[in-house]
Amino acid sequence: MTFVPNSASARDIAHHLHPYTNLKVHETEGPLVITRGKGVYVYDEDGKDYLEAMAGLWSASLGFSEPRLVDAAVKQLKELPYYHTFTHKSHLPSIDLAEKLKSVAPVPMSKVIFQNSGSEANDTVVKLVWYYHNAIGKPEKKKIISRIKAYHGVTVASASLTGLPNNHRDFDLPIANILHADCPHYYRFAQDGESEEDFATRLADNLEKLILKEGPETVGGFIAEPIMGAGGVIVPPKTYFEKIQAVLQKYDVLFIVDEVICGFGRTGNYWGSQTFDLKPDMLSCAKALSSSYLPISAVMVNEKVYQAMVVESEKIGVFGHGYTYSGHPVCAAVALETLKIYEERNIVEHVQQVGPRMQAGLRKFLDHPLVGEVRGTGLIGAVEMVQDKKSRASFDPKLGLGAKLAKIAQANGLIVRAIGDSIAFTPPLVITEAEIDDMLARMKKSLDEALAWLDEQGVA
Ligand code: PMP
Repeated sequence: MTFVPNSASARDIAHHLHPYTNLKVHETEGPLVITRGKGVYVYDEDGKDYLEAMAGLWSASLGFSEPRLVDAAVKQLKELPYYHTFTHKSHLPSIDLAEKLKSVAPVPMSKVIFQNSGSEANDTVVKLVWYYHNAIGKPEKKKIISRIKAYHGVTVASASLTGLPNNHRDFDLPIANILHADCPHYYRFAQDGESEEDFATRLADNLEKLILKEGPETVGGFIAEPIMGAGGVIVPPKTYFEKIQAVLQKYDVLFIVDEVICGFGRTGNYWGSQTFDLKPDMLSCAKALSSSYLPISAVMVNEKVYQAMVVESEKIGVFGHGYTYSGHPVCAAVALETLKIYEERNIVEHVQQVGPRMQAGLRKFLDHPLVGEVRGTGLIGAVEMVQDKKSRASFDPKLGLGAKLAKIAQANGLIVRAIGDSIAFTPPLVITEAEIDDMLARMKKSLDEALAWLDEQGVA
């Protein structure tokens, strides 16, 4: 492709290093430059509309044009554009937001600490697991178990928790003391004839074996997304978390729930923790906390963890952690307004109402020759394309079918995320039934075109 000199695309290629992008391909293909948004749609430089079926990065829950969030930011910028929360300083937006988050928490929580991103929240979590165990006189209890295909971020510690090869390979990760347990994807990893419950039992047994092998006195934490997002929208099998939590309790392992995607209504409850009956000691959240209009994340800790932290910080004289922008007043004000809107517009009930339409619509794709599995709940879902529905055999990854489908969808005005050959859907939570139908129609067209493309490649 050739680019008009000095066009946004040409300048992007010349100057901008993109995250999560094939850098070589970008040099020739350039970016899709989005210039504005309205509701669940975004528009490129030529005015072409795209239904944003990923809400950006699973995150712009109120869509792309909520004026109240803009007003909240402007009001706060005029009043107090910046202040920090170090050394006994505070400001009203962070106090209000901490109080609000505690009031909606899925289990009783004691304190809230703020960061700027999901990665930083989970980085904080790793440090708190270590800090806590030093505080209670168990300095050897430092290993943290995550899961294969988990996504918890990209900082050194959170990327280590992430269980995806691309986040480790060439970055010399994971760091020491981070382990990865089984991925709970029933469709992919259950054995022949194994029920969901039996699969869950086997995974919980394997977790117990792992803890015993490492030594329970060395295992301090277990972190999980309620539904794994970037790893492929993996919904846990029935009874999985019940059995996993029993193992964690038995060996006194802190349970950390990463609600960065599932929090704030995505799964049809306020928290994914409620959808799967999780009882976290710590909870991280971000993304929909501010509808992603400004960067902010939070970690909530329970009383047990907090009390230990108090003792330790008293010994040392300070709790030596925090960011210049922890609880940034403008970000906190926008987050507060976001949470207010969720309540006023009954966003959780809205997801309960429209979610089934998306889920049913996606499940209809099971009739399509390419689709082997559809999974999800609420407004999070995925469609997995397979070469052979009966054996569940995947296409040769070299074909890049998922990426091709996403490209076809983009041409059809639909932005989705390809994770291998799974196509993820997490539209803004404000999506209407008519917009869901529009999304599904654009997907159907794209699936048909992907099938035709496969035929052209001579792939049966
Ligand atoms: N946890 C989960 C579950 C996520 O999905 C993500 C981002 N996709 C993160 C953590 C990291 O968040 P961020 O990109 O804001 O650092």
